[in-house]
Amino acid sequence: MSATLTLKPGKDQSLRRLHPWVFSGAIARMQGEVVEGEVVSVLAANGELLGVGHYAPGSIAVRMLDFGTEAQLPDAAFWEQKLRNAYQLRQRLGLTGTGNTNVYRLVHAEGDGLPGLIIDVYGDTAVVQAHSAGMYKARPLIAAALQAVLGENLRAIYDKSAETVPAKAAPDAQNGYLLGESTGQEHVVEENGHRFAVDWETGQKTGFFIDQRDNRALLARYAPGRRVLNTFCYTGGFSVYALQAGAELVHSVDSSKKAIELTNRNAELTGLQDKHEAYAQDVFSFLKDRHNQYDLIVLDPPAFAKHLSARHNALMGYKRLNVAGIKQIAPGGLLFTFSCSQVVSMELFEGAIMAAAIEAGRPARILHRLTQPADHPVSLFHPEGEYLKGLVLAVD
Ligand code: SAH
Repeated sequence: MSATLTLKPGKDQSLRRLHPWVFSGAIARMQGEVVEGEVVSVLAANGELLGVGHYAPGSIAVRMLDFGTEAQLPDAAFWEQKLRNAYQLRQRLGLTGTGNTNVYRLVHAEGDGLPGLIIDVYGDTAVVQAHSAGMYKARPLIAAALQAVLGENLRAIYDKSAETVPAKAAPDAQNGYLLGESTGQEHVVEENGHRFAVDWETGQKTGFFIDQRDNRALLARYAPGRRVLNTFCYTGGFSVYALQAGAELVHSVDSSKKAIELTNRNAELTGLQDKHEAYAQDVFSFLKDRHNQYDLIVLDPPAFAKHLSARHNALMGYKRLNVAGIKQIAPGGLLFTFSCSQVVSMELFEGAIMAAAIEAGRPARILHRLTQPADHPVSLFHPEGEYLKGLVLAVD
């Protein structure tokens, strides 16, 4: 028998609408041994089973894995079914290697009914990131399910949870292989026919920002003949698409030296590195030195706000960055501007960009509103899963 949590009267409504979080304030009482990372059963005030989930102390007390009166403790078959569902969706989206893409997000946490779990696939390697103690403890089951679902297509599983699992729950967590081992060789993946070297062992996040795939493809449409600036370039995703689409020149900027090395390597893989220049520099200081030089600028900073309390400062940050960027766009140029802060809505982001255009003194029109791609799905019952937003502006 797992431990059980009984909710206060009326607090069952959000679970009945399949929202996957139980907040600690909704709990009336706990029975049995309630341990961080273990599966608990959640009951309505009248004793009816609402579902099962991973328990954690803190504001989000339970992350739900299954709903309803029939919900059972997750076993090997449960994990296999969940991962199979996720894989079949990506297959239907044409992302699993049959076309010209073999890098994709296999599991997007709540968007795939698995709160706290991220799995990104790079060719024959799956990179697992647990963001909760429950998912961290479940890694052996997850690894077995991955092998069952991906079969021969899977050579290695790399666990990269050390930076993401709550430190108190797993103080000794270390990254490492759950299956296979390091090949010691460069690993090149393909996205829309563009080749990228990905280093999941030392790179940021799981090694590559898969979530910009569709937006990179859109940029390729507008890049031919243009002078392109890609700021916060990380591994040069937008730069590679711009080069291969026939940009006149591409400049990439990132404050991390390692990121610039990766960008240069990926530019080299296009064979068009003569048109590319990369700068290991702070974006704000880089933009200060330039004047009206670019026909297309990408601004894709890291999340400026990780919590609601930081939202106001984040909006000021987006405005300041976009003022500086817009000033460097030649008349008639394009701005691709993004925010990956979950707490900043599209509406607020648009307001910040409008304020930036006014301050820069440049009329601008919205051509596209952008978001995260289909392998980062958002559960209708959990709108908080939407985080990436972007605008493409024509700047006069
Ligand atoms: N656009 C990238 C992802 C960007 S991630 C892609 O498509 O893959 C954010 C990047 O911003 C990181 O690589 C980080 O090193 C860089 N960064 C953060 N602050 C910066 C700053 N002030 N100036 C330049 N780069 C910065």
